[in-house]
Amino acid sequence: MTLPRGDEIWFLTGSQDLYGPETLDKVAEHSREIAAYLDGVLPTRVVWKPTLTGPDAILRTCLEANATPGCVGVITWMHTFSPSKMWIRGLTQLEKPLAHLHTQYNRSLPWSEIDMDFMNLNQSAHGDREFGFMLARLRLDHKIVVGHWQDPDVADELEHWSRVASAASASRRLKIVRFGGMNMREVAVTGGDRVEAEIRFGWSVNGHAVGDLVARIAEVGDAEVEQLLEQYESSYTIVPALQRGGDRRETLRDAARQELGMRAFLVEGGYEAFTTTFEDLYGLKQLPGFACQRLMADGYGFGAEGDWKTAALVRLMKLISAGRRGGVSFMEDYTYHLVKNEERVLGAHMLEVCPSIADGKPSLEVHPLGIGGKRDPCRLVFNAAPGPSVGATLVDLGGRMRLIVQELDAVKIEVPMPRLPVARALWVPRPDFKRACHAWLLAGGAHHTSFSQAVTAAELEDLASMLGVEYVRIGHGTDIAALKQQLRWNEQAAR
Ligand code: MN
Repeated sequence: MTLPRGDEIWFLTGSQDLYGPETLDKVAEHSREIAAYLDGVLPTRVVWKPTLTGPDAILRTCLEANATPGCVGVITWMHTFSPSKMWIRGLTQLEKPLAHLHTQYNRSLPWSEIDMDFMNLNQSAHGDREFGFMLARLRLDHKIVVGHWQDPDVADELEHWSRVASAASASRRLKIVRFGGMNMREVAVTGGDRVEAEIRFGWSVNGHAVGDLVARIAEVGDAEVEQLLEQYESSYTIVPALQRGGDRRETLRDAARQELGMRAFLVEGGYEAFTTTFEDLYGLKQLPGFACQRLMADGYGFGAEGDWKTAALVRLMKLISAGRRGGVSFMEDYTYHLVKNEERVLGAHMLEVCPSIADGKPSLEVHPLGIGGKRDPCRLVFNAAPGPSVGATLVDLGGRMRLIVQELDAVKIEVPMPRLPVARALWVPRPDFKRACHAWLLAGGAHHTSFSQAVTAAELEDLASMLGVEYVRIGHGTDIAALKQQLRWNEQAAR
């Protein structure tokens, strides 16, 4: 999948009229060059705006940024000194994410030639401090990126931030459909306040009777089904029973029909994420797990058992990582290997894990399933690739939400598990099993997560900041006593 076309970041340069036209021409020339450079290295278009030298122009530009749907964020840089009272009216109105780029046009000082003219032109050391004070004074939650604009780490930080800004913008128009319209009975952590989620994040979360989906599936034509079966054949290793002429071929045909009906329902309704629940499968021949796997692989957000919060997270993380290697999937912490010093978490779900995280070509199989009381469902079976990963969960604490991110290392699955024909992931959480699990329980993290090897914890921190939600990272350096304090303070701060 790709990032939404038409997204752009505005590059705003601050100065003032005091310097005179000659210096301001230089400022404009330099900032154009930096904006053009960033335009070349960021996945989102970077649009240069004329230098801002007074409160009226600043206010006008901020209001224009708000009114431009494609503008997902602004980068600000004070080339020279820009008295920041001029920025109050604009910044208090600005509704788009802001990254403060603290850079300087020149990398090295011209030691033998440096004079006061150079000093007055290259003044971000001082202009950006004035601007930083105002952001702090206004309590604006923003990103700060420090370093020379051509340094790869600066481009990287802005690249990550711009991806998150695109996802945060998409969040404001995200539509999630819940097939069956409900959470798993009696389950607490996967539930939450849908009204609050729409106010805060922009997520529209609505349910549909599963019968509406069944009706759409019934409209799917045989020709479409045959075409999709050909796609399966070129994408997966298929067990003989599901192959052409195999005795379970009809089951695969039913699964393909489910996928086509679901996909059509999502497209026609403008939904980018969805949930299912095995407690409401009336009229469906099998649990639609394979369809969920396929739709996730195409960029849809998904949550099982009515878990709309994880469905939304999966979707936003798919957007953040668009075009990158590694995938994003719905995941569940399922069972433990508790042998001392070799502790592991085995993650899986009944069926619904996205093949974008697979290590190698998935195998398309059919097996009985104890839960749901339906016919044997098709599913993709694979192991997740090893490597640094994250698991993210969003929990509703009553009146506010918390995003919890676990850093972990997925490890290669060395032992075959012939009696467990589902998609599987095996990992060691950071900083170590004991502290990680302790921290996760303290913070109230769910058993469902959005799992990824293509999104970083730092990006999720930016996302939390843009969505205005508490962020808790569990990983390198996590200390239980410090985390307890952090959670206490955050609780006070939220009151
Ligand atoms: Mn589950």
